[in-house]
Amino acid sequence: MRDITLCHPRLQKLAGEWLRECEKEKLSVAISETLRTALEQDLLYAQGRTRPGKIVTNAKGSEYRSQHQWGIAFDFYLTMDVNGDGKIADDSYNDSTGLFERAGTLAKKVGLAWGGDWASIKDKPHLYLSDWGSTPDRLIREYKTPEHFIKTWKMQSDEGFKMAKDGVRWWYQFADGTYAASGWHWLKEATGGTHGWYLFDESGYMLTGYQTDPAGGRYILCPDPGIHEGQCMISDEKGELRIAGEYDFENHRYHLS
Ligand SMILES: [Zn+2]
Repeated sequence: MRDITLCHPRLQKLAGEWLRECEKEKLSVAISETLRTALEQDLLYAQGRTRPGKIVTNAKGSEYRSQHQWGIAFDFYLTMDVNGDGKIADDSYNDSTGLFERAGTLAKKVGLAWGGDWASIKDKPHLYLSDWGSTPDRLIREYKTPEHFIKTWKMQSDEGFKMAKDGVRWWYQFADGTYAASGWHWLKEATGGTHGWYLFDESGYMLTGYQTDPAGGRYILCPDPGIHEGQCMISDEKGELRIAGEYDFENHRYHLS
């Protein structure tokens, strides 16, 4: 599965921070595998054994020996032209210039652990929460099954920006479980610690670029992915909104009219 919102709340948060770090470094990546069911793990285990392909895992689904089954890991791939042939699709796993290590280093910077550091089978596209060690042994001892472990997450969904299921858009969850929608909200961005006005659509997705708010005002909201994304940076100290003329995409700043 590719849905990061199925994973441990803290993994979701750190995944978001990691994606922003990668954006800042012009490292274009995407999340592939996230939570894996026992059935999916069994199919993967069968690959190279009773099904075609080469062996990719030693973990059987029923033994819960993959971190993916516990929702504490995700895999990533590159979405950029590494070999300079003008194509992206053929470079998903092109590690010839050490990009997986760079991505792994950025992941460690935000507090994730990297499968490329494993001693035996290195797993460079694999990032995980290291709270329970580098194998699921402790989780298996303490919780027996992923179902029991996942039940303990419920109370941990804290306030803050969350990445949407498409891995591109953002939404904001309040402490009581409701979310920001339909208009302006003065919110804190956890990674950068900055406050700003953010505009949300009716479904609760944060808007960026040129937008018209419910009152008919025209605004330009920071379109640059990263810690200022979506912020209306033309508000004054009191947070009063001012209408901007246009956004200079090249120099990343607003021109006030
Ligand atoms: Zn993995």
